[in-house]
This record gives sequence, structure tokens and C-alpha cells, in this order.
Amino acid sequence: MKKIMAVNAGSSSLKFQLLAMPEEITITEGIVERIGLQDAYYTIVINGDKEKQVLPVKDHAVAVDIVLNDLINKGIIKSLEEISGVGHRIVQGGGSFDKSVLIDEDVVAEITRLCDLAPLHNPAHLIGIKAFREALPNVKQVAVFDTAFHQTMSKEAYMYAVPYEWYEKYGIRKYGAHGTSHQYVALEAAKLEGKPIEDLKIVTLHLGNGASISAIKGGKCIDTSMGLTPLEGIPMGTRSGNIDPTVVEYICNKENLSVSEVLDALNKKSGYLGVSGVSNDSRDLEKCMYEGNERCKLALDIQYKRIADYIGSYYVYLGGIDVIVFTAGIGENSERCRSEVLRRISVLGVELDEEANKVRGKAQLITKPTSKIRAYLIPTNEEIVIARDTLKLISQ
Ligand code: AMP
Repeated sequence: MKKIMAVNAGSSSLKFQLLAMPEEITITEGIVERIGLQDAYYTIVINGDKEKQVLPVKDHAVAVDIVLNDLINKGIIKSLEEISGVGHRIVQGGGSFDKSVLIDEDVVAEITRLCDLAPLHNPAHLIGIKAFREALPNVKQVAVFDTAFHQTMSKEAYMYAVPYEWYEKYGIRKYGAHGTSHQYVALEAAKLEGKPIEDLKIVTLHLGNGASISAIKGGKCIDTSMGLTPLEGIPMGTRSGNIDPTVVEYICNKENLSVSEVLDALNKKSGYLGVSGVSNDSRDLEKCMYEGNERCKLALDIQYKRIADYIGSYYVYLGGIDVIVFTAGIGENSERCRSEVLRRISVLGVELDEEANKVRGKAQLITKPTSKIRAYLIPTNEEIVIARDTLKLISQ
């Protein structure tokens, strides 16, 4: 058994999970939030019990030290040598990485070069990598890219119909996101179906605060809804998803805003939040909708319609669909979301089993035996993909 640390470093946070591999058992998990502040939060979960502390955390290096020392102090590991590998989630691997890789200076340089495409995420991942490399200099580190799973898309699927030089000079194309999640739930779906993934046509719906949809044929991604950045695709908690790009110039002129300010609004003040004016949280929207708030209902309906549009288009592109998977915060928890989406694609022969759909957070088939497409709820687990890839690469 090897102990692998799966890490997701954000600009002011450090999420971690220590897993026993290949058993895929979570030993402990936690998060340091508000890094850089005197009153940062450190939470660790041990045997299902959450312990939370408020303490000063100057930077990511301090956060890593706090976590590693705590693992020893709490007796979770006896020494740091027990950690065999560290896997880092990296949001943007561009066209350079179609699989996970061991981190060396070249990999760090390439992730740095790609910061342009993910200015909020890649710099934070680099800080996390640096902090763990310093704390555990003899431990191999692995980069696991959110974009890698989507690298199997064909050029007709990933290219935008814009001047070709933009692609050649600047790499303007679709890269997608949430790849580890789409890959994980597709593999789980194949297990539940009792069939090799090579024989299946799957549409995976990762519906969380960020949301994306993938078309997966024979285990390979052939299309996905997110693009150059996570702004493309369906409306999300605070992101607009697809809009006519001329809206940007129009609003710049009317409201006297810069392009960055309008893009900020499309990323942070749109989607559920923008349409409802209430919240970016689907629980709040569902509650207010039942209380009669029309804009909350509209915010949800716009999203469900767009999800159905994508499924319809992927049905054609895949040449049929065997399985649809709902995952992430909303997909795993909102009975209404699953039911509304499947109702909107009933023309494809999908028959929801309403009783089976009354489920939350556990893998389950939610369609009737007569349904032409089987739909599942499958909880995602990106950390397992990170730990699997890390184990594979450190063992080579
Ligand atoms: P994630 O980004 O995957 O953590 O998902 C966050 C989203 O999941 C938020 O919009 C939450 O409102 C949503 N969510 C969590 N629990 C529920 C629930 N019980 N019903 C509806 N949405 C939920």
C-alpha cells in the first residue's frame, strides 16, 4: 500500500486528500482557506470528524507545513517518508499535455507558459507545486491536467471558426475543463453497466457551480462544452455560458465599462446569480422558485434548456447515447434538475424512474428498465483520478 497526497492549490486555498493506493481509500482530507490572512481556516477530517482551526497562514509554504506537521502530530503518518507521491490538479495544460506527467523543470516551465490561458488557476498551482517540492524534496510529484482528457477531440470539434492565425500564434481553441471528473464518472458508468467503456457512448453532465458536458465515445472525449476558458458552454452559478460576443462591446459602450469589466461580469455576476438576482446556489434558487420567484425559475429553466440542447447535439455527434451521467454538486443533489433535464429530452426515449431519482450523493440508475437511454447519478471523485495517475507514474 502506498500513501498518495492529492492536492488542489487555489490562489488562497490548499485542498488535500491523503489516499491509500491502490485501495483507493481516503485516509484523511482537508483544506486551508484564506491563505495570506491572520485568520485563515484550517479544516481536517479524520474518521468522519471535522476539526476546524483559525490561525495565521502567511503563504502556501506555511500551509503545507501546517498540514504535514499535523499529519504527523495526529499519528496519521509516522514520518514524511510514508508519503510516496504528490499529485497536483492543474486546470490548464493547453495543447501540451494529453496525459498526466511527472513534474520536472520542463513541466514547471510549460505550466508557467500556460498561465496566460488560466490566469487565476495555473499561478496558484505553481505555488502549490513549489511549496510541496520544498517540503518533500525526495518525493516525486505529478501534474494531473483538467484539460488532458479532452485532448482526444478532433480538430473539427476543438477549433473555433476564427482567423486561423489566432490558433497558430496564440493557441486559440477549445481545451475544455473538469476532465478528471468526466473521465472518472464515465469509467464508473461503464462498471455499473457491466460493459467495457470501449463499447459505450456516454454523455457526462458535471453540474456544479462550474458546469460542463462531455461526449465520450469508446472511453475517449470527442466533444466538450467548455472552451478556451470555462466561460463557454452552459450557464453556471455565476458564468453566462455561450453568448453572442457582440454583447461585450455593446455593454462596454452603454455602461462605460472596459472589456475586462464586462468579462468579469460574465464570469462572476451572470448565470444563476445574474438572471435570478438572488444567488449562485441552486438550493436557494429552488427554494425561492417554490415560493413563487419567477426569475429564480427562469435562471434554472435557461440552464436546463441549454443542457438539453447540448445533449441533443451530442446525441447526433456520438451517433446515439447509451448512458447519461449526472455528477457534481447539483447533478448529485438536485432531484429536480435531473428530472427537468431528462423531461426535456424525452423525445430521445428517456424514461425517468421518479422513485429511483429520489436519491442524493450515491451511485444509482435513475431511469426505468424500458428507457432507451440509461441515466445514472454518479458522485464524482477527482482526487481518485489524481491518486491513480500519481501512483502509476511514480511506480514506473
Ligand atoms: P460543486 O461546485 O460541485 O461543489 O457544486 C456546487 C453546487 O451544488 C451549488 O450550486 C449548490 O447549490 C449545489 N448543491 C449542493 N447541494 C445541493 C442540493 N441539495 N440541492 C441542489 N443543489 C445543491
